[in-house]
Amino acid sequence: MPDEHVPKGDEAGAADKPLDAVIVGAGPSGLTAGIYLARARRSVVVMERNMAGGLMALTDLIENYPGFPDGIGGFELSDRLKAQAVKFGAEVREITGVSALEAHPGAHALVTDQGTVRARSVLLAPGRQPRSLGVPGEAEFFGRGVSSCGTCDGPLYRGRSVAVIGGGDTAVEEGMFLTKFAAAVHVFHRREQLRCTLIAQERAFDNAKMDWHWNTRVQRIVGDTQVRGVEYEDVCTGEVATLPVDGVFVFVGQTPNTAFLQGVVDLDAEEYIVTDDRLHTSCAGVFASGDARANHLKQIACAVGEGALAAVQMDRYLDTL
Ligand code: NAP
Repeated sequence: MPDEHVPKGDEAGAADKPLDAVIVGAGPSGLTAGIYLARARRSVVVMERNMAGGLMALTDLIENYPGFPDGIGGFELSDRLKAQAVKFGAEVREITGVSALEAHPGAHALVTDQGTVRARSVLLAPGRQPRSLGVPGEAEFFGRGVSSCGTCDGPLYRGRSVAVIGGGDTAVEEGMFLTKFAAAVHVFHRREQLRCTLIAQERAFDNAKMDWHWNTRVQRIVGDTQVRGVEYEDVCTGEVATLPVDGVFVFVGQTPNTAFLQGVVDLDAEEYIVTDDRLHTSCAGVFASGDARANHLKQIACAVGEGALAAVQMDRYLDTL
């Protein structure tokens, strides 16, 4: 049951009055900010697209979030964070998308597919989405053998052969997860050194089902009604070859979900949200945290810390209005 409370300011939450705060994104950063703002007795709505937790919810096992020595499933951690925010009085509202933020000091308007929400302060925590490789066949076979989620689609490849593209933490961890099902996981990486953490490398190199294709660029995903293989180039020799596989998992980084913020708040060259060190954006009353912010480390622990800081700054900002 939600915690019963009266938000600061008896008008907060009334239908024709703006909320104290609206949070765009129910990932670890947005939900943490929801916990803190609700505990500060602010009226707060967290906008959730698809599912609570964002990309975190799609992670099989999270081993580096402090406090869980045996790791915790991404879905379970997402569920727990959401329950904690709701328990203290935050509302988590499901939407299919945000189309615009209209910034008006004191009463910002967030335009969603389910209507417009007005709030005196806004936290932008929209997170990121998987980047596509941009090769022929990728879009055509998406959902018919091409995927960006091992946790979702891995069980479809029991006893079969799959390709993983990329050499970062996501590629190697998801590749390892896929070995629970697939007979062989072929990793295609454009260099001869992985980008992921050393502990992930040690485990992956020890796994006999992982097969390494160094210095390769996948040029095309081939198939008929479904994926049949990948065509790739050896970047050292220029030689082109095709490897038959049943599935292709693309993990070549992520891009921030900030298209709706163009011209509203300052973004950097890669479209991440620029803030000061107290997480204020270029627009008064609008704050940002988490993976879509221009910061130096994309980790759940950082997203959680930024969510707490943003909430405290928002609470102070609301006191000044
Ligand atoms: P990432 O760290 O940016 O790695 C992307 C990988 O894809 C890199 O190996 C990159 O190659 C490769 N790549 C990029 N563009 C490519 C292209 N056009 N063609 C072929 N290969 C391409 O992305 P990520 O692995 O999704 O991770 C995102 C962030 O989340 C990182 O900060 C990561 O540390 C973090 N993360 C952490 C954990 C964890 O802590 N357990 C788990 C998952 C993610 P190069 O190496 O040559 O650039």
